[in-house]
Amino acid sequence: MRHPKVSDCVEIFDSLWPPALAGSWDSVGLAVGDPDAEVRSILLALDPMDAVIAEAVVLDADLVFNHHPLMLKPVKSVNAATLKGGAVHTLISNDIALFNAHTNADSARGGVSDVLISLMGIKDAQPLADHSTAGGSGTDSLPTGIGRVGDLDQPTPVRDLARRLADHLPRTTTGVRIAGDPAATVTRVAVCGGAGDSLFEEVRASGADVYVTADLRHHPATEALDTANRRESGLSLIDVSHWASETVWLTAAAEALDAEFAARGFSVSLQHSAVNTDPWVERY
Ligand SMILES: [Zn+2]
Repeated sequence: MRHPKVSDCVEIFDSLWPPALAGSWDSVGLAVGDPDAEVRSILLALDPMDAVIAEAVVLDADLVFNHHPLMLKPVKSVNAATLKGGAVHTLISNDIALFNAHTNADSARGGVSDVLISLMGIKDAQPLADHSTAGGSGTDSLPTGIGRVGDLDQPTPVRDLARRLADHLPRTTTGVRIAGDPAATVTRVAVCGGAGDSLFEEVRASGADVYVTADLRHHPATEALDTANRRESGLSLIDVSHWASETVWLTAAAEALDAEFAARGFSVSLQHSAVNTDPWVERY
């Protein structure tokens, strides 16, 4: 079997995670690389951190597939002495391409939030924020969009749900935290992998009893609790590590990519990065 070119890889990535699903503020697609270069191996990771790029160099990978963009904010130069420019230089001088699928991978079916909600045993979840206008092309296509909401088989105490998540997610320093009443019984679960504190309106509209997301800050969390209390609607929050909430998706992404490369007759090796890019390493 032949090896794909970078451009073949991009076509496959875009078929699985259409760039049209990305937020307008986002930066997705091929950030660094020659579309005509051959790709024998791909390294999958969440963050284009230096340690990940160094790993790609050691592994002789030809392409790094990331979730988070290297250059979300535009840069004015790729001077090697700058943070972003240094990464670009290392990539180019080692013939490594860099691609990322970010909010398009969150929105697509089988994306970050789908994987996260399935860890809690919920199969048929719906998007929290519908993106159907930019989504499916066929009449049978499922709705896409950021976040997911779905129902548990039976009412479950929040602390049991948090423990279930702790069992299924990789262990992290910040762990799994509950805000609200840990003993409250919940059925309807909203999730958003990564930082989801911009979606509280959608969470309330979905009728969710509990919201699972990452990077929850003091003010959005306390205000969401008070808003729910005043409406007597009850809302609990479960905060997980940003890295943990998204890294579980990479396994699903690798499986989807394996199938897609094989279906198109391409030979390429896929490897999940061994670098843990969760920044938090100790707590006291
Ligand atoms: Zn993220």
